[in-house]
Amino acid sequence: MSYSYPALWKVLAGAALCLSLEMMFRCIRRRRRRPLREVLFFPAPLSCTEPVLSPGLSCPCPLPHTDTALCRLLRLLLGAQRSLEVCVFTVSSQPLARAVLQLHHRGVRVRVISDSDYMASHGSQIGVLRQEGVVVRHNQSEGYMHHKFAILDKSVVITGSLNWTVQAVHTNKENVLISDDQAYVQAYLEEFERLWEEYDPATYDFFPEKDQK
Ligand code: ZN
Repeated sequence: MSYSYPALWKVLAGAALCLSLEMMFRCIRRRRRRPLREVLFFPAPLSCTEPVLSPGLSCPCPLPHTDTALCRLLRLLLGAQRSLEVCVFTVSSQPLARAVLQLHHRGVRVRVISDSDYMASHGSQIGVLRQEGVVVRHNQSEGYMHHKFAILDKSVVITGSLNWTVQAVHTNKENVLISDDQAYVQAYLEEFERLWEEYDPATYDFFPEKDQK
């Protein structure tokens, strides 16, 4: 097929118009996207999390299969596509640890920071995460690493009072705030990167000389 010059110009002008309209609509859509602003309150009633962690499988367990704040938190975490940063004082909740492992096995870059005092305590999931290859770093100085936040895909921050423990999830009054406000996400990300460097294993010094005497 061959075009005369005027016809060719018309085709090109049409294509350019389509392209600019498409870009304009994309821009408008992006601007109109509603910001993510959500708050979850705990305790969450005890319920089965299999519908979230193993979707498609029918679970015969006797627990109620209702949607709870924990289910919502798990769904948010499992939505990560590229990266997950977890910076949480204690992690003993098996469903939350399973969500982290699922992301790790899916190829999502997972990094965990936790407090050294509770990592090896009964029920802690940190050892489980490490066994599966998740990189975990921890504090080694005075004062707890007491944060409780996570960052998804460098675009959503999840923060609040909630430790990722069974007691906090099912017994305590806790709050979790979720936001994709980039000012907040960036601040939390910078704090994570700062701690990640500070807790580099190359600098660990568990048994300073004065303790060995
Ligand atoms: Zn069940």
